[in-house]
Amino acid sequence: MKRILALFALWPLWLWAQESSIQIIPQPQHLEQGNGRYTLHNATFSLRLDGSEAHELADYISTSPLQLKRSRSEKADVRIFLDETGKNFESDEAYSLKADTTGIEISARHEAGLFYGFQTLLQLSRQPITLERVGCVLFPKEEGDFEVPYVNIDDAPRFKWRGMHMDVSRHFFSPRQIKKQLRMMARYKLNRFHWHLTDDSGWRLELKSYPQLTQTTAYRPVAHYMDWSEQGRRFCNKDTKGASGGCYTRAEVRDIIDYARRLHITVVPEIEMPGHSWEVLATFPELACSGKGYENSELCIGNDKTFTFVEKVLSEVMEIFPSEYIHIGGDEADRSHWAKCSKCQARMQREGLSDVRELQSYFTRRVEDFLARHGRKMVGWDEIIEGGLSPRATVMSWRGEEGGITAARTGHDAIMTPWVCYLDNAQDFPIYEPRGIGGYLPIRRCYDYDPVPAALTEQEARHILGVQANLWAEFIPTEAHQEYMYYPRLCAIAETAWTKPQAKNYERFRAKALGEVEWLKRQGYYPFELKYEYGDRVEAQHPIAHKAIGRPITYVTPVSPKYPGSGDNTLVDGLRGGFTYQDGRWQGFESKDFDVTIDLGSVEDISHVEAEFIQRLDQWIWMPREVIVYGSEDGQNFTELGRQQNDVDPQIPGFQFRHYGWTGQARARYVRYVALQNGHPGGWIFTDEIVVQ
Ligand SMILES: [Zn+2]
Repeated sequence: MKRILALFALWPLWLWAQESSIQIIPQPQHLEQGNGRYTLHNATFSLRLDGSEAHELADYISTSPLQLKRSRSEKADVRIFLDETGKNFESDEAYSLKADTTGIEISARHEAGLFYGFQTLLQLSRQPITLERVGCVLFPKEEGDFEVPYVNIDDAPRFKWRGMHMDVSRHFFSPRQIKKQLRMMARYKLNRFHWHLTDDSGWRLELKSYPQLTQTTAYRPVAHYMDWSEQGRRFCNKDTKGASGGCYTRAEVRDIIDYARRLHITVVPEIEMPGHSWEVLATFPELACSGKGYENSELCIGNDKTFTFVEKVLSEVMEIFPSEYIHIGGDEADRSHWAKCSKCQARMQREGLSDVRELQSYFTRRVEDFLARHGRKMVGWDEIIEGGLSPRATVMSWRGEEGGITAARTGHDAIMTPWVCYLDNAQDFPIYEPRGIGGYLPIRRCYDYDPVPAALTEQEARHILGVQANLWAEFIPTEAHQEYMYYPRLCAIAETAWTKPQAKNYERFRAKALGEVEWLKRQGYYPFELKYEYGDRVEAQHPIAHKAIGRPITYVTPVSPKYPGSGDNTLVDGLRGGFTYQDGRWQGFESKDFDVTIDLGSVEDISHVEAEFIQRLDQWIWMPREVIVYGSEDGQNFTELGRQQNDVDPQIPGFQFRHYGWTGQARARYVRYVALQNGHPGGWIFTDEIVVQ
């Protein structure tokens, strides 16, 4: 019996070892596998590279788990060198890696490529798995010499900008935690760390020019952002009992920048302006339109002192951060404050600006010009397009792809970060996931995203610099929770950022990600347990058949352009929506009744009509108050077939799904379905399919 158990235990391991022989994230562009393995036994490496970079790379290699010793010999086991033969590498980050009976060779035209080649070697190298018996159970254990399968790899990234974003304002994360994530960024060949250093909930960057910012707003009396947000948004002194938060000293920031640089990662600082600046106004109330702090988050653009402040802050930021790009935020400003402010109005008149959008654009241009005069490039969220885009600005497209498309078409660079890159969304069945921002973003959705919108020409597509994973931290108070949200979805975005579409394959990626989760856990990370993924709503997993599929549908009230689903066919395509109304299967109707008519093509016997609705209190989405179903043979005279009232409590939080309709016997060619608004001004109705049987 014991022997049978042991066999069962061995079988999946053997399979795993076979399939996992080559598992590299992100997938190389070109990979050939040979027969055999090279064993790294007391192994050495040689490095042909000059300058200070050589010392840093040699240090990095010497301290890796492979325990390679540096050698001057031409016959080292691992030979790393700049290729001066004129081999045509696509970019500085491209590399070649060959492993055969003679050992391993990594070559590139630049040190960055050598670094990435070594990352690939680290992922290729595996220790044999032996089984250790504890009691009557066998546990796998990695030990012995590392082995590298014979391979021939030629690799280069698809995009220049392969980013990961971290919000440290909503909740503060320590330098140690940041470095831990930077190491994974390097492993996945990501190269831009977007550090969201300032926001309403705290200024985290210690400045010589304005030490008051961190002194006043780096700590708060309540630990969780959501509690802080609901309890008056007050700050406190560091020494207050129960104070929560923190900030980074200039020395800590420089240390992180240097640590990242050695991992070939550029740290891009984000300093939010002119919105999301509650903490600035709490410190300097004179920069608010009202002259008072703790009232709103928008800097007064009419006030010259605002520009003095912004330029002084950015000067110091440029002194600390060598990054070519400086992110100035620019999103979600409530412009109504400027419309009511005499200083802002005077500025608009002086500058000939016709509305407050142009006023923000004026602000952004001045900031962009200031950065450009200091040799830096400005990047901002896609709101910076509104009111006119500064000539040299780079756009980070977050409200869908539109911002990126507009930027690329007008000759501006763009970085794509639509909601499929928003890792603050739940990655599995949202009811069982930690409390979050509200959406559902499984790893597959991250993986399937193509950052180059189909609408762009080849010429325009060159302006898409890349893609970035964003992690906002409103609901993420701990380090373990932060890692849980990053991994393994960060692997999916990394593969999208690096690997060309023709070399991508979800099934293969998923197998790699399952292995990677186990590896991450062994390294002390807290990834999501992908192997237990529940997946999307059961109703959304399989198409349904019914009489209305593909039939013409007319709308009395048009669908909101914000949530059109996948077009006019959405409600009759046989596909039910998943956990998120953003998945292209739900259509949204804002502050309106929902009223459509379907033409079945000929008069038919019908017995059942229903549609499904979603309720999300926190997203302002409710069930309809009542639905009414009509039938007609001629499309002119409609008979009411039945109606049904809502029976879901509008106060219930969380996800609610419910279908409403009619069941009976009737003959009709036209079916009209009406769902009455719930009575909440500004509220939404979302539905995914009208089923006719
Ligand atoms: Zn003002």
